[in-house]
Amino acid sequence: MKIVFASNNKNKIIEIKHQLPADIELLSLEDIGCHEDIPETADTIEGNAILKADYVTRKYGYDCFADDTGLEVNALNGAPGVYSARYAGEQKNAGDNMHRLLLELGNNPDRSARFKTVIALNLNGQQHLFTGLVEGNITYEKAGEGGFGYDPIFKPENLDVTFAQMSLDEKAQMSHRGRAVAQLVTFLKRY
Ligand code: IMP
Repeated sequence: MKIVFASNNKNKIIEIKHQLPADIELLSLEDIGCHEDIPETADTIEGNAILKADYVTRKYGYDCFADDTGLEVNALNGAPGVYSARYAGEQKNAGDNMHRLLLELGNNPDRSARFKTVIALNLNGQQHLFTGLVEGNITYEKAGEGGFGYDPIFKPENLDVTFAQMSLDEKAQMSHRGRAVAQLVTFLKRY
C-alpha cells in the first residue's frame, strides 16, 4: 500500500516510518512533487490536520494522512496549543518557541502540560481521525539533544527525563504522535 504523509518534516517522517509495517510505502510531499506551503489556518488541531490531508487528496488524488500537534500548557490556558509552531513568531524556530514558553511560565509551580496529536486519514473516499495524548510537565530549563521542537523542555508524567533525552523507540512508545500513529497502524493493518 502506498500512502502520502502530508509533511516534509524529516524528524516526523523518521519517527513514523519507524512505526509503520514494511509493506506500507510512505511518500512525503517532496516525493509527490508538492512543494507549496499547505495552509494551516484552522483554529483547532483537528481542523489543521483535516485541512492538510484534504489539500493533498483534492489536489493530488492520493490517499493521505496528515498530522497536527499542539502543546497545551494548563497555566497558560492551553497556550500555545494550535499556535505551537509559531508561538514566538513566523520564523517557527524551536529555540525561540521554548524561550518564550519558559519566559511566560516564569517560576509558576504549575508546569502541567500535554502534547496532543491528531491524524486525519483520507482513505478510499472516507476520512478517519486518530488522537494521541501525553501528559507531562514543562521543565525549568532545557535538557537533552535528541528529538525536535519542544522536546528538551517536556518531561512525560512519572519520568525524570525529557523527550530530548530518550531514544526514538522510547519516545514513540509514549508520545502523543506515537500513540496516534499506533492507532493509525492498527487501523491500516485491519483494513
Ligand atoms: P506540527 O503541527 O506537528 O507542525 O507541530 C506544531 C509545533 O509543535 C511545532 O513547533 C513542532 O516543533 C512542535 N512539535 C510537534 N511534535 C513535537 C514533538 O514530538 N516534540 C516536541 N515538539 C513537537
